Amino acid sequence: LPTVSLVGRPNVGKSTLFNRLTRSRRALVDATPGVTRDTRAAAVACGGVTVRLLDTGGLTAGGDGGDVITRRTHEQTLAAVEASDLAVLVLDGSRGLSAADRELVDLLRRRGRPLLLVVNKVDGPRQEAFLPEFYELGAEVLPVSAAHRRGIGRLRDRIAKALGPPPEGEDAPASGEPAPAEATEPVRVALLGRPNAGKSSLVNRLVGAPRMIVTDVPGTTRDAVDTLLTRPGARDILLVDTAGIRRRARIRDRVEKFSVVKALEALEDADVAVVVLDAREGISEQDQRILGYVAEAGKGCVVACNKWDLVQGDPDLSRRRRTELERAARFVPYAPRLFLSARTGRRVDRLLAAVDEVAAQYEAEIPTGRLNQALQRALAARQPPMSRGRHVRLYYTTQVAARPPTFLVFANYPEAIPTSYRRFLANRFRAELGLEHTPVRLRFRERE
Ligand code: GDP
Repeated sequence: LPTVSLVGRPNVGKSTLFNRLTRSRRALVDATPGVTRDTRAAAVACGGVTVRLLDTGGLTAGGDGGDVITRRTHEQTLAAVEASDLAVLVLDGSRGLSAADRELVDLLRRRGRPLLLVVNKVDGPRQEAFLPEFYELGAEVLPVSAAHRRGIGRLRDRIAKALGPPPEGEDAPASGEPAPAEATEPVRVALLGRPNAGKSSLVNRLVGAPRMIVTDVPGTTRDAVDTLLTRPGARDILLVDTAGIRRRARIRDRVEKFSVVKALEALEDADVAVVVLDAREGISEQDQRILGYVAEAGKGCVVACNKWDLVQGDPDLSRRRRTELERAARFVPYAPRLFLSARTGRRVDRLLAAVDEVAAQYEAEIPTGRLNQALQRALAARQPPMSRGRHVRLYYTTQVAARPPTFLVFANYPEAIPTSYRRFLANRFRAELGLEHTPVRLRFRERE
């Protein structure tokens, strides 16, 4: 496994971040500076790649931080960095960039190991104000909040990207070691939709279903509450940021304002977005915009056309709604569509089944052999067009990330592959690899 070490000064939130990434509370977390003296390791899934993550002891600028233990910790940490394929330096974003931070960055850069700079504790706008200072470090700087689970998905992606594609011949994402932390993770679901579409009613239906165990768990932002649904014989589902939604269900007719920021936050935190539409009102521009965000974020999606009880008796109207929906959902052609009613409960049970299916595909890891067969068949069906007299060739492909499935395709002239052909290939992959219900991403890289 590639090794990634988390390093940083004491108290920057390294342990919390380690716990976030390993998604467990095994690691010891304490406010006392320097509490984590031993290096702990855990297998962690980053995109489709599994890495060995090391939580190291504290680093001190210059390494001359006083007592013997501090100095030894410093040396052990540097040894861990030497042994790693990637070092992730965690900086404290709750205050500005310090001289000690700069020193550490220099120290690690001089080691010549691949380095990722992460600014932790960026919980909100107050800390965001400091970010420009960190950006001056020149390298790619990634703001996160381990405590509030912000940017963690992006961090996983960055780690995967920094490690690059697995070496040739190694079937890493597919047959590499399984991702233990992910296997039992709940599917994270965000319910999106404009006010009054019926999100609260739908959540109520879901949590009220027989044999469902419902637990409230603290969410990402300070006052957020997530709802964990435990179902017998099925994977857990976490409805993210449902505090407001469930409160509204009790207080009738309190009109909520649609907040783009909140919707985007919930979306960032989710694997699958359930977009709730109001069949009575029809599909609005706001609905379209929401579907656009979901597509852009590359998330799994289920479109729930709610209040179908109010239109199903009217063939004209229901036909019109279906047509509108086709048009609106063109951004998310992979999204299953459900016509349901939170009021009568019609087809609400299908919603979780659809979420399960989307999630499974969203997280899928395709064996490299199967993937390349799909590429060969796509090429047999249609070759990329010639470009300025040159034959454009696609050689082979490998999965570099999951959530969503992301494939790297090696080509002689990547820049000459037109969008239409890229789309054709993505659609072929989706159709042939059992990925009809998830977006997929293709990246092209040059290879002689
Ligand atoms: P939210 O703002 O998206 O959470 O929407 P609510 O769940 O508060 O629902 C808004 C209104 O639509 C309420 O008066 C609900 O009773 C009503 N409603 C929700 N779902 C349905 C449905 O499937 N059919 C009908 N007829 N009314 C519904």
